[in-house]
Amino acid sequence: MKLIEPSFKIEHAPAYFDMLDVIERAARTCYKSENKIKNGSAEKLIRSCIKQGHHSILEHCSITVRIACDRGVSHELVRHRLCAFSQESQRYCAYKDDVEFIRPYWFDESVGTRDWTNPSEHTAYSALRDAERYYQDLLVMGVAPQNARAVLPNATKTEIVITANIREWRHIFTLRCANAAHPEMRGIMVPMRTKFANLWPVFFEDLMM
Ligand SMILES: Cc1cc2nc3c(=O)[nH]c(=O)nc-3n(C[C@H](O)[C@H](O)[C@H](O)COP(=O)(O)OP(=O)(O)OC[C@H]3O[C@@H](n4cnc5c(N)ncnc54)[C@H](O)[C@@H]3O)c2cc1C
Repeated sequence: MKLIEPSFKIEHAPAYFDMLDVIERAARTCYKSENKIKNGSAEKLIRSCIKQGHHSILEHCSITVRIACDRGVSHELVRHRLCAFSQESQRYCAYKDDVEFIRPYWFDESVGTRDWTNPSEHTAYSALRDAERYYQDLLVMGVAPQNARAVLPNATKTEIVITANIREWRHIFTLRCANAAHPEMRGIMVPMRTKFANLWPVFFEDLMM
């Protein structure tokens, strides 16, 4: 059994300049003001459109991210309907060696490598270890991965690739970085929002305020 940290990686995004260009040209189509395109005009226009709630222009560009998280978080992510998802399958993939679990955020980093001091950590760690053992026993008995997965817990690590347009990412960040979101969701989404705002400030900087 392995306890691993959640992570994310940007798999694909158009160049920032191209995003600014296509979105500015789309937005200016509404006002037939393409003649006003010049250096810096895209940033100004897009900031103004975002402020006014003219957000449909942000649907012209999409960003793809790969996330490693637990199955609880991935189950929440797939509720977002305006995304494309591709997720590691527990039907077709068997965890033959170590089963990887995302380290619950309330586990100390040294859990599993030291004597137990915290009974709740000990109980949860034992449950994960037992789940792994039962899962692998079932595989050895010839049970198919799609049936053996029934004994795996929410903490099981999964990988999910998500493509969404800028408008939908903004919506996801608004919901999933809020204090009401699950701490493990926030643990992924808050740094992702910062990364997006650093890479593509015009589209995400206002969400950092
Ligand atoms: C803190 C928190 C707690 C939650 N708790 C629960 C819970 O206990 N149980 C539960 O079942 N879910 C829960 N959810 C999930 C939540 O109900 C939504 O399913 C999820 O957040 C997806 O968001 P969404 O529907 O706004 O947007 P998306 O699916 O991402 O869609 C984006 C936007 O597009 C529009 N849209 C999309 N589809 C339609 C449509 N068919 N009709 C009209 N407009 C549409 C809406 O404006 C929507 O906001 C929770 C979410 C959060 C953030």
